[in-house]
This record gives sequence, C-alpha cells and structure tokens, in this order.
Amino acid sequence: MKYVGAHVSASGGVSQAPINAKNINARAFGLFVKNQKRWEAKPLENSEIEKFKNEINEFGYNVKHILPHAGYLINLGNPESEKREKSYNSMIDEAGRCEQLGLTLINVHPGSHLKLISEEECLGLIADSINHVHANTESISIVLENTAGMGSNIGYKFEHLRDIISLVKDKNRVGVCIDTCHAFAAGYDLRTKETYNKTMEDFGKIVGFEYLKGIHLNDSMYDLGLKKDRHESLLKGKLGEECFRLIMNDKRLDDIPIILETIDETIWAEEIEFLYSLSKN
Ligand code: ZN
Ligand code: MN
Ligand code: MN
Repeated sequence: MKYVGAHVSASGGVSQAPINAKNINARAFGLFVKNQKRWEAKPLENSEIEKFKNEINEFGYNVKHILPHAGYLINLGNPESEKREKSYNSMIDEAGRCEQLGLTLINVHPGSHLKLISEEECLGLIADSINHVHANTESISIVLENTAGMGSNIGYKFEHLRDIISLVKDKNRVGVCIDTCHAFAAGYDLRTKETYNKTMEDFGKIVGFEYLKGIHLNDSMYDLGLKKDRHESLLKGKLGEECFRLIMNDKRLDDIPIILETIDETIWAEEIEFLYSLSKN
C-alpha cells in the first residue's frame, strides 16, 4: 500500500500540519517543525504538542508516514568546525522537537563542502555530525535526502549516501529519502521502465532498500543531468506520467511516506488523487 501526501504548511503552529494534510486527503505528510530559514525558535508549547498528537491519532496517521524536514541553514558537513557545531546543535534541537511530537524520522540534506575540502572529507564530517546528533537524542532516525548536485552540495550520488551510512555508528538510526527531481537533475533517469529499473536497481545495490524511509515526489522543471533543483507540478515537468506510474506500482516503495513538494499547493489534492489512479492494486 502506498502512503502519498505532501509537505504541508505548519504556519500558525505544528498542530496545523495534520489538519492541512487531512484536508487534501493525504495519507502521509512532511512539515517543518520550526522556521526553516532561521536558527532560533521558541520551544514548542505543550498545548501544541498535545494537539498535534491528538490529531495524528484522530486522523489515523502512523508516525512512520510523517517525514519532517530539517531547516535549510544546517550544513552537517561544514568544513569550519564552529559552523558545523552550530549546525549539529540545531539538528539536535530539531530532532528533539520531533521526538517531543512523537515522531521517529527527520529528513536533512547531507551537506556542502563549500569548495574548502574534498567530497570524501565532507562525507566523513557529515557522519561525525550524525553520530553526535545520535548521542544527544533518544531514538530519532536521520534520513539523508539525495541532492541535485547544485553548487558544492554533496549527496547527488547514491555512493555518497552509502559512504556516510558506512561511517555512522548506529545504522538503525539512519536512512535515506529519494527526491525524484533531485535524482533526475543529478543524472538518474526515471522516465521509462528500463531507466527507472536501472536507477532503482543501482540504488538497491549501492545503498539498499532497507535504508529507504521516504520519497519526495516532484516533477523536474529542467532536463536530465542539469543539476538544477527546480521542482515542478506533476506532468508539467520533464519526468512524465510513466515515471509516476512506475513509482505507484513499485512494491519496494510500499509503506513509506511519498511526499509531494510540487510548486502549486492548490492542486495537491488533485495530484494525490491522480497518483492513486495510477496504482493498479
Ligand atoms: Zn529537501
Ligand atoms: Mn526534497
Ligand atoms: Mn529540491
């Protein structure tokens, strides 16, 4: 069974997110647990935490289908140690908020070398940061999102994700999210049965489906391999319907959150309905 939803707004408080998800008939959702463009945030209020948990129960969401997204300022691979420390401390804070909400996953972009160190060194720093976050949180799993490869961002190759995981001490608390737009931008084709299967088989061999904790389902404004992270609404970009049909009928993607981050939130309900219409089971 597929759990499709969208990255919904939590403006007005985290307890708005499950309501926004329910309103578009989402069976899964993503959210920010604090302002994604700022370092600081007030602690979550107990009333918000209670409300969030009650809604999750009432609306029937399972926490494994909720994939919060960490803030955009975080760079767990920052070559400068003070800035890296600020990043992992922020990640510890966000992960703690997720744990307060009863959530079990947090999605993050692996990091950027800023052209100051090699990719390999940066992968090592990211793993160190993750180990540090693990040591300072209870049980949350950190979900590494593949990237488009813009600028000095790493995580655009499945090998990067594998290499980070290999250096993480607690492998039960690390996972991966595949963003379809980012993968396509990074050169992983998904448009035909043949290319989709090749990309997914590569993922299985290099990273392993046991680590796959979520999908960000986005069409791509730009063509294959251009390293441009520009999401598009489904069928309005370069990926094409066959890609979405293959995803909706891929058993390996059962029971994980499949989250739209497409650019027109007014059509999310239709996009979710469209995706379910492609599913044969
Ligand atoms: Zn992301
Ligand atoms: Mn994404
Ligand atoms: Mn993106």
